[in-house]
Amino acid sequence: MHRTEDDYGNASGYLTIDLTALARNYRRLSAEVAPGQAAAVVKADAYGLGADRVGPALYAEGCRHFFVAQFVEALRLKPHLPGDAALFVLNGLQPGNETAAAERGIVPVINSLEQWHQWAGAARKLGRSLPAVLQFDTGMSRLGLPPEERTTLAGLIAAESAIEVLFVMSHLASADDAESGQNDDQRTEMTRVAADFPQFPLCFANSGGIFLGKPYHGVLARPGIALYGGAPTAGRANPMEPVVSLEVAVVQTRTVPAGTRVGYSATHVTTGETRLATLAAGYADGLLRSLSGRGAVYHEGVRLPIVGRVSMDSITIDISALPEGKITFGSRVEVLGPHQTLEDVARDAGTIAYEILTSLGHRYARRYR
Ligand SMILES: *Cc1c(COP(=O)(O)O)cnc(C)c1O
Repeated sequence: MHRTEDDYGNASGYLTIDLTALARNYRRLSAEVAPGQAAAVVKADAYGLGADRVGPALYAEGCRHFFVAQFVEALRLKPHLPGDAALFVLNGLQPGNETAAAERGIVPVINSLEQWHQWAGAARKLGRSLPAVLQFDTGMSRLGLPPEERTTLAGLIAAESAIEVLFVMSHLASADDAESGQNDDQRTEMTRVAADFPQFPLCFANSGGIFLGKPYHGVLARPGIALYGGAPTAGRANPMEPVVSLEVAVVQTRTVPAGTRVGYSATHVTTGETRLATLAAGYADGLLRSLSGRGAVYHEGVRLPIVGRVSMDSITIDISALPEGKITFGSRVEVLGPHQTLEDVARDAGTIAYEILTSLGHRYARRYR
């Protein structure tokens, strides 16, 4: 549940989601793929940012194609989008969900011959043709029909008109690495898919793929992370605008002498007199436990290292670098903002920006700008 702005000010963490930056990122990506179009990947509650707010903001910007991973996400998002927005389910449908999806106009991505037969069966039962996207595996071995099943599928398509194919898609496994040879391999395989199914438009690039250039775009690209301000290409300047900022409140401060143990299991022991502050958020709020003794927060641009273990609901930081009295009960520190990007936190946590975003907890006061 998203809180209203009314209780902004009472929470211990403040998550700000800049929908105008999101809109500019969508425009930027749309321009990059023109004359093709950009869809929006809004799975996992729009990477943790709130699909009910992100979806309509992107629709207002001209986005008409929305991808979620699971059927339940499509059901939740549907009421927040106008009727002409297309909703696609990347994992396809679990057996039994066909009629519910068909009735609501939710479009499955068909990843296997089983899913083709399941959806075709539903179409025959309902006595009308049903839309679908076909996904092919071009080298990731995760979702989609393998190359050896393409002939069978082409035969099924020729034999029955129960399924209206809207797009043929595939997903890149290494698109964030512009140097990876896997990109070229997958693009080559996608060219073969396109040759086998020349009648259907292609849906190919994710965020990273968009910046690999034209041959990766297809007529519909599927960016996710780049919309939310994450870097589409590792090791390169990030062309996207930050969308998320996060501040956490200080709940207690103390000054301790040398030799003082800090946090669970005493993984940190002070080496000199140290000023500490305890923050009112922890791993249950998405500040991953792997940030223990590694990550940092910022206050007016000053780096304040995390000391000891990250707890479920709190984190201890060393504030000795700041003048005394600068941080007191109720002060706020920056976790994500001008001094620390998603990628910075991800690196310190030993993970990727996607996991940081999708882990952001539900206890923060959320403000949408
Ligand atoms: C998650 C996902 C995307 C979006 O990927 P980003 O790297 O976030 O742009 C696109 N397509 C598929 C199939 C996905 O699973």
